[in-house]
Parts: sequence; C-alpha cells; structure tokens
Amino acid sequence: MSEHKDFLRTIVEEDLKSGKYKEIITRFPPEPNGFPHIGHAKSIAINFGIARDYNGYCNLRMDDTNPTTEDTKYVEALKDAVEWLGFEWKDNVRYTSDYFDKLYEYAIELVKMGKAYVDSLDQETMKEYHGTVTQPGRRSEYAERSVEENLDLLERMKNGEFKDGEHVLRAKIDMSAPNMKMRDPILYRIRHAHHYRAGDKWAIYPLYDFGHCLSDYIEGVTHSICTLEFENNREVYDWVLDTLKLEPPRPYQHEFARLGINYTVMSKRKLLELVNGNYVSGWDDPRLPTIAGYRRRGYTPESILNFCDSIGIAKANSTVDVAQLEFAIRDDLNTKVPRVMTVLDPLKVTIKNYEGSEELEASYYPEDVPKEGSRKIPFSKTIYIEREDFSENPPKGYFRLTPEQPVRLKHAYIITCKEIVKDADGNITEIIAEYNPESKSGSDTSGIKVKSAIQWVDAASAKTVEVRLYDRLYKNEAPEGLEDLNPDSLKIIKNALIEPAVITERPDERFQFERQGYFYADPVDYTDENPVFNKIVGLKDSYAK
Ligand code: ATP
Ligand code: MG
Ligand code: MG
Repeated sequence: MSEHKDFLRTIVEEDLKSGKYKEIITRFPPEPNGFPHIGHAKSIAINFGIARDYNGYCNLRMDDTNPTTEDTKYVEALKDAVEWLGFEWKDNVRYTSDYFDKLYEYAIELVKMGKAYVDSLDQETMKEYHGTVTQPGRRSEYAERSVEENLDLLERMKNGEFKDGEHVLRAKIDMSAPNMKMRDPILYRIRHAHHYRAGDKWAIYPLYDFGHCLSDYIEGVTHSICTLEFENNREVYDWVLDTLKLEPPRPYQHEFARLGINYTVMSKRKLLELVNGNYVSGWDDPRLPTIAGYRRRGYTPESILNFCDSIGIAKANSTVDVAQLEFAIRDDLNTKVPRVMTVLDPLKVTIKNYEGSEELEASYYPEDVPKEGSRKIPFSKTIYIEREDFSENPPKGYFRLTPEQPVRLKHAYIITCKEIVKDADGNITEIIAEYNPESKSGSDTSGIKVKSAIQWVDAASAKTVEVRLYDRLYKNEAPEGLEDLNPDSLKIIKNALIEPAVITERPDERFQFERQGYFYADPVDYTDENPVFNKIVGLKDSYAK
C-alpha cells in the first residue's frame, strides 16, 4: 500500500465501507496512438495500484475510437509498459472497438427515448449555435426530427451512405447549460476510415463522451479515474448512464491532476513530431520521457514507481521538477549497482618506478551497500587517468593531481607527478609519475596525505567502449517546440576505457562508473565487439542552484 492515503483511496474506502461496491474495478484506458510516457506511468500506478491495494482488478483498455491515428504497434508498447512496471491486467486486453455493436445499441435506445437526434448543421453553424461561456447556445432546427427519421438516418450513417461531416448524432440535453459540454454533445460522427481492428465495418465512430462511460459500465468499472481536463465531461458521463437507466452498480468518474515535468514535453502529438522528424532515434530514445525511453536509458521500474508515489496525487495541476525523477533513480541505484572504473577522456600516465604487474582485489560495492562481490583490477606501469584529473596550473580548491600535489589512484597507490610531456602545440600528452610502494590501498603505511582519490584504468588490459552521455532534451524549463531542443542532449564518446572485469564478468547491466555517474549497458546496441553504455544520471544534481 502506498505510504500516504490519497483522496482517491479515501473515496474507494468509503465506497467499500458503505457497500456501494463489493469489488473495486478500475481501468487504464489509453488511446493506442503513441508510446506511453511518464504521465501514463502515473495513471498506471494509480489505477493498477488502487486495484491491487483493495484486492480488486484493473483492466487495460485500448480506447481505440479514432481510426486514423491508431496502430497495433502502440498497443504492444502499452502492454509492454504496464508489464514492465510490474502490473497485470485481468484476463485479456480490452478494446473499446470490441464494444462498437453494444454502443450502437445504446445509441438507438437514446434515440428511441427522444434523448438523441441526428443533426445536419454544417460545422460552422454548429459552432455558432454552441454559444459561449457567457451566452447560451441555440438548438439546431434538426433537433425536431421524429424518432423514426432519426433512427433511419442513424442507420444510414452507420451503413456509410453519407459523407464525413454530413451528419452527427447528438444528445438532447440543454443548449443553455452553463457547462458547455452539456450543450447537446456529439455522440457519433461519420468517419470513412479503416480501423486497425474493426476494419471497414464502421462508417461512424463514437466520441469520448459516449464511448467512455459506457465502456466503463460494460466492464463493471467502479472508479473511472481520469485527469482534470475531463472535469466538465463528468456531467455528460453521468447524464448518459443515468438517462439510459442502466442496472446498478454504475461507475463514477474522479479526476486528479495531470503530471507535468519541467524540461519535458509529454503530449503524444509532440513526441510523435520528435520521432517522425528524426530529432530522436525512435520512441525508445533514452532522452524521451516515454516508458520505452526510460527503460532503454537504464531507469528501473522501481524508480519510476517511487517517483510516482513521491509526488502524490494532486487535485490541482502543477509541474514537478525533473530533478525529483533523477533523484528517484539515483536513490534506487545507489543501493544496488557495482562500482567500477572508467576513463572517458584518457591521459596517459607512466609510473617510472613501477615494474611488472599485479592484480588488485577490489569490492564492487562500498561499505554502506549491503551487497557482496569483488573483482581483480590489473595494475602496471602504464595507466590512464581522466584528463581533467590533472591540472598543471590548478585553480584554488583543486584536490586532484598537480605538479605539487599527489593523488591516490583508487584501490591502488598514491602517485606523484614528476614530469609533464607535451606535444609541439603544447598539449599535455603524458605524465611521468612515481608511485609510493608503501601506499597500497588497505595497507597504507606511507604517511602521505592526499586530498582525493581518482579513477584510472590499466593501459594493457583496459577495454574500449562507447559511452553515450545524455542530457536534458530541452534547454528550457517549459519547452514549447523544436526551437527549445538542447543541441547538446547527446554526446557520444567512442573510445572510453573501462576496467576489464566489467566486460569479461558482466556483474550487472547497470553500474556506477566511479565519479562519473550511473550507466546502463544499452539493451539494443551493446555487442561483444562494441560495448555501449548509456548514462542514466549523474551522481549528483548538476543543475541544483
Ligand atoms: P497525451 O495528451 O499525452 O497524448 P492522453 O491523455 O491523450 O495523453 P491517453 O492515451 O488518452 O493519453 O491517456 C490514457 C490515460 O493516461 C488517461 O486516463 C489519461 O488521463 C492518463 N494520462 C495521460 N497523460 C497523463 C499525465 N500527464 N498525467 C497523468 N495521467 C495521464
Ligand atoms: Mg485521451
Ligand atoms: Mg492525446
């Protein structure tokens, strides 16, 4: 159970206590028109989480009423996302399209009750008649059609006798209702389009306000949880179910605030634009806020769920700081993954007083991580350190290697710089150093004080790997479009060096590269010939003010 009881769980508990429902049934109802993103993860966590907490169940329902944008590849991505997050839907995946026949029967019933009519106004006039927030609307002349005429027209709409836009079916509610959604909402529209599942059977498709409440009812859903922008649709939801006088129990709609994250776009339309325009490598590009993207980047399902839990369930929209998500993955990996050494920008160091070679035993985990495991790190005369861990003219507060200042090589010895080798342009190409034989980690009797320990790799045994450094996809906190993309969101390093055990032992898929961040063996591009690691997140919030 989630730590804090949110307002939705309070409602669910009251409904169980009062006997309104015997079993809690929720649903996660995505439209299969794109890959799911972290906002969907929030909705999945809520719907499946509540069902699990109260021993009920949650349906995975494809809300597939829009034939032109939907596709089975998105259905598969949605199933993958739910499973990866650790949830199970009951029985088979549901599809609103499987209910098209039933929905049509309900529509006929409404027409017979005189509660729905076929309207033939052109779009512009219809809009004009709709009125404004301050002005009541005006009902269409076609609303006076007889039940017989409406039934006949509706059937012919279904049979494909009319063109797109020629007629619509509308509920007869109230054209002067203060809630604009109640002004005779459209229930069906004509759409001559091939549906990825229903094929060409239908020439009319139900709209959200008609299809959603009835799909919930058909499935026996008790709590229909959706985001705030549907608040005004709730009245229509209730109207449809109540007008049809359906046998109880019926579902009720409850709204929560949509998740928004800074530096992130989350609408599927905008994500589709990035994918189709090749601004990213695909729906699973590690920079995207899609579940597939986080997964490929190396996020764990636990970290995503912990994040969703940590932000709570709000009733008012707000934007969450992306640092909170980054914290969640860092926090999760800190206690799980092996620590290893990598050098991204190698600077050669020759230790002139060291001869031969040895293997240093080193734990994969620091003392505060309750995990076992160690590896052997080869050490010899020639090693590489990170170029930025040496400074010839160090700024104040620089604690790493300088001509005057020794440094510890992590898990190994203390070295002192003796000579700087430069090329004709004055670039440093090599450091000639000396090590202190009494300074070995774990048995240091040298008495030398150093201010820091740096990572390194042994030149003879290090493996070359590709490292992909990801940064935020957008440079602005509230990105609008392509102009806000961060041009430096991906940096590829082809010749990074890594200690051999990472490749030969593969103790894990995720690692902390000492002092660099958390990394993940790319599940798609990693091969024995070309190991590829994705940067998941840095070790600390580099944006913190
Ligand atoms: P988008 O505008 O990003 O395409 P959507 O709401 O159209 O999102 P759907 O596939 O219809 O996407 O959403 C499925 C479910 O996920 C809905 O119940 C919706 O409320 C929920 N959902 C979508 N985006 C978010 C979000 N940012 N935060 C919380 N829930 C979300
Ligand atoms: Mg939607
Ligand atoms: Mg949408």
